[in-house]
Amino acid sequence: MKLTEILSALPTPCYVIEECSLVDNLETLWEVEQKTGCHVLLAQKAFSNYKTYPLISEYISGTTASGLFEAKLAHEEMPGAMNHVFSPAYKDDEIDELLTICDHIVFNSFSQWKHFREKALRYPDVSFGLRINPEYSEIETDIYNPCFENSRLGITLSAFEKNEKELEGISGLHFHTMCEQGADTLERTLAVVEEKFGKYLYNMKWINFGGGHHITKPDYDVEKLVTLINRIKGKYDLEVYIEPGEAVAIDAGYLVCTVLDITKNGMDIAIVDTSAACHMPDVLEMPYRPFIIGSGNGGEKPYTYRLGGPTCLAGDVIGDYSFDKPLSVGDRLIFTDMAMYTTVKNNTFNGMPLPSIYILHRDESVELVRKFGYEDFKSRL
Ligand SMILES: *Cc1c(COP(=O)(O)O)cnc(C)c1O
Repeated sequence: MKLTEILSALPTPCYVIEECSLVDNLETLWEVEQKTGCHVLLAQKAFSNYKTYPLISEYISGTTASGLFEAKLAHEEMPGAMNHVFSPAYKDDEIDELLTICDHIVFNSFSQWKHFREKALRYPDVSFGLRINPEYSEIETDIYNPCFENSRLGITLSAFEKNEKELEGISGLHFHTMCEQGADTLERTLAVVEEKFGKYLYNMKWINFGGGHHITKPDYDVEKLVTLINRIKGKYDLEVYIEPGEAVAIDAGYLVCTVLDITKNGMDIAIVDTSAACHMPDVLEMPYRPFIIGSGNGGEKPYTYRLGGPTCLAGDVIGDYSFDKPLSVGDRLIFTDMAMYTTVKNNTFNGMPLPSIYILHRDESVELVRKFGYEDFKSRL
């Protein structure tokens, strides 16, 4: 059966995770591990659909978490894999559990490290690191730039130098300064990291290059990444970790919706049973325009519509799209690249129902993972 037919047969709204695309991504990441001996960790904040964790763990070393809950999820659903965590600040009642389930814990400041050090050092199997802020990033949107002025993320060189005497017990450095970027950005970033923090790297057991590496995009220079990792490993004699989120789940899923109504106000408008604000918040936050199968930009094909969700938010507009034929109520529209930063970020603003989650397996069978209803809305309030 054709993909669009399979997807259009499902009740909407729904997310569909596409196993074969996930595997394509994972094969590239596996290759990076094979060619370098580095460890690739899934950044769960981008994609936490744990039904796929057994599959993911066949290809990459493990996961990283933004805090206790993601770390617990990985501990339960990807047992035996590497479980790393970084948070801008841990709470006293979280650290005890993290120490028993994580193998790497990264602190954001010397004060957090000093606060937890005594307890931490009672766990010889856990490795501790510090997040550095190299004060170099090529990200232009402040909300995604961890190196903007007065950023709370990571330790700058001047703060690091002042605390050098506190480094005992620290085995690694972590930086995360990239977003959807290529190996050339990593190369320039590493040059700054080495210039500033190179003197410390000789004494470390590992370095973590963070996320934001667009490794599974067709134009990404995987060979350059391999060369960079191997060079750093060799020069400082340490392990290298990278923790992509997007690169694991890019283009690995769909959001299917139904046209509910068609109106007109200066142009044709279609209201669909999915919402940018609730089901694909990055469309408004990044912002970006997601692709719909069979569509063109506004004005490109004969019939153009402004698509919006059924919430009260005036700005709940997904974008302008054109089609070969006029849209009708009941038509299905399929958004692509909807596996990452969607199911982990959605919400029930306006009492919007959450889309069901399906997995499209490699044998074309479709598995319903989770269906949501009124109780899921009510139980959070
Ligand atoms: C967001 C984030 C990642 C993953 O970023 P992607 O852009 O999804 O690859 C990895 N590490 C840290 C610390 C992050 O904040």
